This record gives sequence, C-alpha cells and structure tokens, in this order.
Amino acid sequence: MNAFDEARYCIRCATPLAAQRLFGKLRPVCPTCGWIYFADPKVAVAVLISHNSSVLLGRRVNDPGRGQWTLPAGFVDAGEDPLEAARRECFEETGLEIEIIDLLDVMYGQEHERGAHILIVYLGRILGGSLRAADDIDAVDFFGLDALPPLAFSTTEKILRKWQEKAR
Ligand SMILES: [Zn+2]
Repeated sequence: MNAFDEARYCIRCATPLAAQRLFGKLRPVCPTCGWIYFADPKVAVAVLISHNSSVLLGRRVNDPGRGQWTLPAGFVDAGEDPLEAARRECFEETGLEIEIIDLLDVMYGQEHERGAHILIVYLGRILGGSLRAADDIDAVDFFGLDALPPLAFSTTEKILRKWQEKAR
C-alpha cells in the first residue's frame, strides 16, 4: 500500500492531504497546517527459545497462518524497548518469563499485508512462569527441528535454518 492510500486526511485538522516533494520523495502533506505523513516501518520482535535442542512454537488463532505454528512474536509499541516487547509478547503468548540472551537476526521484508516490515529476532532463555497458550496462540509446545509442525510463515523457516547453522 502506498502512502497516499494509507493517509488521505490530516490527523491534526482533517484537511485532505496533497502530494508534495519533501525530503526526496512525494509525500502526503497537509496544505492547511503543514503536517507531513511519513510512512514508517512497522517493527516486530520474535523470540527463539530452545530446550534440549527443541524449539518453542505457538499455534496461531488468527489468519494469516491460522492453525499453523510460529515463534512467540508481536509488534513493538511506540515508545517500547524491543527487548521489553520480546519479553512481554513471550509472556502474553506462552506464560513463560524469559531473559534475552542474544540477537539472532534482523530481517527486512513484509510477508503479508498486516505483517511487520522489520523483524528483530532474539534468542531467549526461560527464567520462570508456566507454559500455557494465550492471546492469539491456542497451543504451545517444544518441537525438534526434524519433527516440526506446519509453519505459518516462510520467515519462521528462515529463522530456524539460521539458528541451526549457527548452532553447528
Ligand atoms: Zn492539517
């Protein structure tokens, strides 16, 4: 979706936005108050938590990828540290309290229309809590890489491959 489909009216004064070349690009700009719409990337975090070389996955309640499995993940809120977002999402979806121990990858590319543009993938370690599925996940379990369930996103596959290569 381009910026002109995303924003048609000024969020400050409700005037229809007009195209203006600013900072090297045509951008939606309010002719009345000067507000500029910058289409910012959406940022998400995912956490890979392993236990005896098995990896923690959750089954998605919602489309896209309903009934298929992926890593605990979610969007970073404005003003939120991505590390905190990763711990929060993990707790909300799986009931586990974790600490972040490493950065595995930063990936660019939107896999589906409601997906993030930038995905930060951390490695996490369990500190406490008890495993239970919640939020937009209805089952959680550990899987060996040779016995994975159907995965929701090709991104999940890429992350698991990268993790496997790194572990060698
Ligand atoms: Zn305005």
